[in-house]
Amino acid sequence: MFIDGEFRDARSGATFDVTDPATGDIIGSVPDGGADDARDAITAADAAFAAWSTTTARSRSDLLYRAWRLMDERAEQLAELMTREQGKPLRASRAEVAYAADFLRYYAEEATRVTGEWLPSARPDQRFLVLRQPVGVVAMVTPWNYPISMLTRKMAPALAAGCTLVLKPAEATPLCAKAVFEIFADAGAPDGVVNMVTALDPKPIGEVFTTDPRVRKLTFTGSTAVGRHLAGVAAGNLKRVSVELGGHAPFLVFPDADPVRAAKGAAALKFLNAGQACISPNRLYVHADHEDAFVSTMVERVSNVRAGNGFEDGVGVGPLVNEAAVAKVAAQVDDAVSHGAEALVGGTRLTGAPFDRGHFYAPTLLAGVRDGMTIYREETFGPVAPIITYDDVDELLDLANDTNYGLAAYVYTQNLSTAITAFEGLRFGIVGVNDVNPTAASAPFGGMQDSGLGREGSHEGIAEYLETKLGGFAI
Ligand code: NAD
Repeated sequence: MFIDGEFRDARSGATFDVTDPATGDIIGSVPDGGADDARDAITAADAAFAAWSTTTARSRSDLLYRAWRLMDERAEQLAELMTREQGKPLRASRAEVAYAADFLRYYAEEATRVTGEWLPSARPDQRFLVLRQPVGVVAMVTPWNYPISMLTRKMAPALAAGCTLVLKPAEATPLCAKAVFEIFADAGAPDGVVNMVTALDPKPIGEVFTTDPRVRKLTFTGSTAVGRHLAGVAAGNLKRVSVELGGHAPFLVFPDADPVRAAKGAAALKFLNAGQACISPNRLYVHADHEDAFVSTMVERVSNVRAGNGFEDGVGVGPLVNEAAVAKVAAQVDDAVSHGAEALVGGTRLTGAPFDRGHFYAPTLLAGVRDGMTIYREETFGPVAPIITYDDVDELLDLANDTNYGLAAYVYTQNLSTAITAFEGLRFGIVGVNDVNPTAASAPFGGMQDSGLGREGSHEGIAEYLETKLGGFAI
């Protein structure tokens, strides 16, 4: 844990082990913190707030620039650690570290651009001044699927705004989180400005984060069920809340699309991080006229995705996070097949050496998926591409919008009118049009409906950590 500028053990002295999901090997151990440790961290963040929030924007920017350079220098070590702890292929880990570092640089720039306003009044003797100030101590909870970038996406804008913070990383990936805090320590973050509590059982920490009056904001990335609970408690205590939650992304191949290009995009996108991404497509809608071309290209592509240890060359899909994740994917595929879907590729767990030591599911292509199957509505978070064939294009946007989620959607078309109509009509926070990577530090990321509240990245991301203060001045 990192509290008040030093790496510490838990008060109880307890620790827990961290394992490699590809091999089951124990690769480290970290303190198993509890409510007291969380309160210690909040005390440190609270004490540091007065000084940090009144430093110049330039000096906050300088800290983020130093952290960015260190992350860049340590990129290869970080990527290797990520592949060992989280499992994704090394190439994907390198890409994530670069994405994570981008948030540090972007908010180093943005720190110096927090401005106010000077507004006129109806009274001739009055002026209004609008000031933006940091909200205070921020509690952060992050997931394991992007174990470095999900930290910098929250920490960088909070620090740029002048907030201090306490972060609880996911129990599956605390070593990546520790490496991020080492960077901030080495970059010279003042004591108490950034704090981290690791814990095997997140509940007592969540309880402190959502009830301690010194915490002014909760920001959470993870599942909808947990986010809904934590946001509810935090909001009940009138804390500000941002939550980035689950998704069930539709991928729409319109009749005026190039089906081969769409299939190549879908195959590249679906198997990123073994499908363990909140913006992973979960329903691939293909017009009947394109079915043959789309499906045959997908079969060829998916058959060539190799599963295995992320350190091996040519591996496109690593292990899933744990056994429960494999069981959930297997249950969804079995349910779909029992209701008439066909597994054109994969459709099984991967067993035998070397897979038995880790948590592997075969890259899978399902055809004939329909409403009524579990996979049609529930997030899969695994390497399964479900194809739904449709006939009536006029129903397509309604089908795509028929979900409680609203994070990402994808559209393939070669017609500008179709693209604009779909972009405007889809009830999702992020829409990729012929584009399978609509994310960047400079772009607002976030969902509608059950996919969350608030945005991360872009100038909107820093606004989440700022309060507006109005001054009325009589002259
Ligand atoms: P999860 O909700 O189980 O865990 C996320 C984090 O919450 C972890 O740090 C965990 O320890 C913590 N947590 C769990 N219960 C808690 C409690 N009672 N109090 C405090 N903390 C608690 O989710 P997960 O399985 O780790 O992550 C997968 C989910 O995250 C998926 O649904 C995915 O779509 C979502 N996700 C969303 C985004 C996004 O930006 N929208 C990004 C990545 C992942």
